[in-house]
Amino acid sequence: MNNAQVLPHYHHIINGEIVKPSSGNYIDVHCPATGNLIAKTADGNATDVDLAVSAARQALKNTDWKNISVTARSKLLYQIGNTVLANAQELAILEVQASGGTIKRVMGLDILAIADLFFTLAESIKSYPFIENLSPKILPEQVHTMVVKEPVGVCGIITAWNFPLLLLSWKIAPAIAAGNTVVVKASELTPTSTFRLIELVNQFLPAGVLNLVSGTGINVGDPLVKHPKVNKISFTGSTQTGRNIQIAAAATLKRVTLELGGKGAAIVMPDANIDLVAHGALFGIMMNSGQACESGSRLIVHANIHDELIAKMKTLAEKIVVGNPLDPATGMGPIVSEQQFSRIETYLKSAQEQGAHIVTGGKRKIIAGFENGYFLEPTIISNCKNDMEHACEEIFGPVVSIIKFTELDEAIGIANDSIYGLSAGIWTEDVIGAQAVARQLEAGSVWINDWHMMRTDAPFGGMKQSGYGREMSHNSLNSYTELKSISTAFERDPSKKSTYHLVHTF
Ligand code: NAD
Repeated sequence: MNNAQVLPHYHHIINGEIVKPSSGNYIDVHCPATGNLIAKTADGNATDVDLAVSAARQALKNTDWKNISVTARSKLLYQIGNTVLANAQELAILEVQASGGTIKRVMGLDILAIADLFFTLAESIKSYPFIENLSPKILPEQVHTMVVKEPVGVCGIITAWNFPLLLLSWKIAPAIAAGNTVVVKASELTPTSTFRLIELVNQFLPAGVLNLVSGTGINVGDPLVKHPKVNKISFTGSTQTGRNIQIAAAATLKRVTLELGGKGAAIVMPDANIDLVAHGALFGIMMNSGQACESGSRLIVHANIHDELIAKMKTLAEKIVVGNPLDPATGMGPIVSEQQFSRIETYLKSAQEQGAHIVTGGKRKIIAGFENGYFLEPTIISNCKNDMEHACEEIFGPVVSIIKFTELDEAIGIANDSIYGLSAGIWTEDVIGAQAVARQLEAGSVWINDWHMMRTDAPFGGMKQSGYGREMSHNSLNSYTELKSISTAFERDPSKKSTYHLVHTF
């Protein structure tokens, strides 16, 4: 069959219209479970970016958007959340086919979390201090001052492939909630669900408020970051790309927020319930085949329970059903691409070369009917030292590195000995003591006796080289707004203004 003739083509969405790429070129999109070509996505360029940015700038002036009340915006966010729920299955299938995330997770967690975020912000903006009136001060005299939070302007939003819909929503929800206009660039590996969600959301927005330009990082992402009429960049992706973006954005002094890589450390205390930890630690790393920035990829285990915990985790890891992500019985789908798969294999090789021991997994898994899929066995590595390559660098795969400790201070030291600071945690029956440990861990999210405990009303983001800025919750609105002070003088008579006397001695 000539696949190219029947393949769906995903174009740009600019000014409320579907627009073909000016180059006429498209990028292949493959399904990581089958290796099949499933779609083509527009291979955008700087000309397309310019068109989208112009539409977004124009939309900032559109009075339907510029003057929209907070109440109307809140209603809009509710409508978007409801639309996500109403179209859940279609969005989820697109998400699973391109990213390899399991249908069970996308339907059971991602879709609900996305709708919940729009609902959370719909409520938050009603009490968010878009306008604050200040109390009088001695100086200046007879002045009323209000502090207003205005939209930043045109926001460039660049996302990664691991949770395309979630990452997109974390950014467009606060951007829209704060009254900005947007140009999105999704990962070229997983553009399909993003296209559909943006198409759905566009039905509620004035043309040009939410635009999409598809393509690669170099041809679309970079021109977006450098565009002089883009006011802010919100990026999710690798730490290396984040660095490049920060440098490129400096030329126009854009506001930048960065959600980058991680190497989450979970400390397991000797009093922890080993059965619960075995389940929880596996959940912490194996969800989305370990391709989660905040996964618990380092397990720092007390020597007294080390061997018993590893044995229990091994038994459970071998029970995880790896396979077709569209099958609701599947617990772990494929790795997103061949390139990512080989990257993980390189880390597994280096772990063994550096003296670590693969307890279970570590090999490609061949699934009947999906022989070309990039499936990897859930992998546990013991005998790790924190400075081994696989133990300190982000693998982004279903691989947990186990490091032994004897003293709590030593464990905290190991957890913090990382360039990253996105997630950390502690497993213990002493939850009061755990609170004190949580305050010492250098991470944006700390989880006690569980993992992935993200909620839409709590901020999420990184410390150190995991980036800066926070997503979700009302806090996310701060980085999509600019502060402005507006002061009105009530004393008009110059002779009564003490400050004028400082200059006007006549
Ligand atoms: P990546 O950095 O390769 O790409 C991310 C996005 O940036 C893609 O859309 C890509 O096309 C674009 N891009 C690439 N080069 C660019 C450039 N020079 N200018 C502008 N845009 C450019 O990351 P990835 O491989 O897609 O995603 C995996 C990474 O994302 C992991 O490191 C993971 O930890 C991180 N991540 C972080 C979070 C978080 O919230 N902290 C969430 C998910 C993923």
